[in-house]
Amino acid sequence: MRIHSSLAIVLLASLAAAQSSIHERLRVDASDAPRNILHSTVTIPVASGAVTLVYPKWIPGNHRPTGPIQNVTGLHIRAGTQELEWQRDLVDMWAFHLQVPKGVSELEVSFDTLTYNGKSSAASSKVLDLNWNQVVMYPQGTPSDSVQVSASITLPKGWKFGTALTPARQSDSSTDFQPVSLTRLVDSPLIAGAIYRQVQLSKAGETLNVMDMVAESEAALQMSDKDLASYKQLVAETEKLFGAHHFEKYHFLLTLSDQTAHGGLEHHESSDNRTAEDTLSDPNWHNLEADLLPHEFVHSWNGKYRRPAGLATPNYQEPMKGDLLWVYEGLTDYLGDILSARSGLRSPEQWRENAAYTAAMLDHRAGRTWRPLQDTATSVQILFTAPPEWTNWRRSADYYPEGFLIWLEVDTMIRRQSNGQKSLNDFCRLFFGGKDSPPAVAPYKFEDVVSALNQVVPYNWAGMLRERLDSKSPHAPLGGIENGGWKLVYNTQKNTTMEAREKTGESLDLSFSLGIIITKEGTISDAIPDSPAYAAGIGPGMKLIAVNGRKYSKDLIRTALREAAGGSQPVSFLVEHAEYYETYKVDYHGGERYPHLVRNESQPDILQEVIKPIASAQ
Ligand SMILES: [Zn+2]
Repeated sequence: MRIHSSLAIVLLASLAAAQSSIHERLRVDASDAPRNILHSTVTIPVASGAVTLVYPKWIPGNHRPTGPIQNVTGLHIRAGTQELEWQRDLVDMWAFHLQVPKGVSELEVSFDTLTYNGKSSAASSKVLDLNWNQVVMYPQGTPSDSVQVSASITLPKGWKFGTALTPARQSDSSTDFQPVSLTRLVDSPLIAGAIYRQVQLSKAGETLNVMDMVAESEAALQMSDKDLASYKQLVAETEKLFGAHHFEKYHFLLTLSDQTAHGGLEHHESSDNRTAEDTLSDPNWHNLEADLLPHEFVHSWNGKYRRPAGLATPNYQEPMKGDLLWVYEGLTDYLGDILSARSGLRSPEQWRENAAYTAAMLDHRAGRTWRPLQDTATSVQILFTAPPEWTNWRRSADYYPEGFLIWLEVDTMIRRQSNGQKSLNDFCRLFFGGKDSPPAVAPYKFEDVVSALNQVVPYNWAGMLRERLDSKSPHAPLGGIENGGWKLVYNTQKNTTMEAREKTGESLDLSFSLGIIITKEGTISDAIPDSPAYAAGIGPGMKLIAVNGRKYSKDLIRTALREAAGGSQPVSFLVEHAEYYETYKVDYHGGERYPHLVRNESQPDILQEVIKPIASAQ
């Protein structure tokens, strides 16, 4: 491999077996999954005396203590027919202490995991998204590589499943999987459903790459020929970008449902992608989610194989450090986005509109004057539990979208300094490629990133990156767009990414005019400090009742903005604020404003080069 030889490369597949000190059996009865209750039985070898069992707390890819211990119920621990008493640790809620009687060498731990969470549940009547960390326990202090698990699952009758795990035996509704380390089990989620389809994305003779889909309806699984071609191209483009892969096979797991949680979670040999039921057919959902599978696929290299040292923990109880998430997530955001264009999932115009929205959103983040980007990564543990109100002033997980801007800047700088001979593609091959291998973890530090960049093109990368990470400038780093031969501008024409967000029902985003975001119920979810609406006294939590004396609607507020443009009359807002009705006069005359990128014809179009396919057509 061309990466630093001093790094400890841990080949999970080979070492896990060698280090194996205990072997658990895990039976998951998911036949009740539609009611969002999973029944687990774990058989754990133990010695007599004091024993502490733990439930996974720090979840890979979440980077924080999200193991849903509050949903563990019906816990019983038995030695044969004898029920043992357990005590939860007074400080660590994920740990259970007990005394194992003499002569007992094995415990049977049974419990239920409740996965109901409204429209963010793990299951519906038709689909299940199973993350094994939610249904397992293991002895405290044991590395997850040292626990072998023979897992089995029982599903509702007739359901089919997709997973990177290898079935050993299958009967009726139950499947036994080949034993794997706890690391690999937790890294291999399973999706299941009454309506299932698998499509192959790799060619014969190549490493197997498939997409497993479950959905609420047959119609949701109908993928266009164009999309199928784009997903095949995505695999080819990503393989070409990195030059080698670190999995034995890869499964894109895709759940299309409005009844279960949306989002994505990365793994070595699979990704768990959950989107709206209509994602494959609705053009707005399609546009918004076009980078989801590319993003999660990139993580197999950036995040799973190469992992920040602070996130490469020996088991799920060890705290994680998120300071390098601007590489783990930020670079993945950038690469996932450009792969959405290289593979044809987004048009170049859609890609630029998305980039314009990202740049404008970050350029209007008031919180950047107190909170440097670095702190958004460092404080990952607390950012996701914050409410949406005051996001602009608090900042959010900005290391994702601002990572896009920073890595675009790095990419365009390499291209300019090497006269187009080198690009971030070279860094990707150097840092993430090497030779094909099974799942492995190669930890890195800030200095390793800088050193690899310097091998591509020598420059003061450490200084440049630290400046971007530690800056308290009110403005976002737009150097990548400018180096790329484009400019960020605002006009009255709607931005297609923002329009897609609005049409899919999320919100009305007037960040770049009034300085507020409004939910579909008419409530202000955020206000930008010092924006016109904020200056008039409007803030998050207030509900719009009327605009210029007439009942609030999205159309009405747009009309009011157009009518006030260039004039001198303020726009009048009647808002409900807790139990009071109040009127605010907003002195704003700039009309509707939406961000776009326009060409700077005096510079070459490097952005076009960035999103140009690099693999041959599939
Ligand atoms: Zn990610």
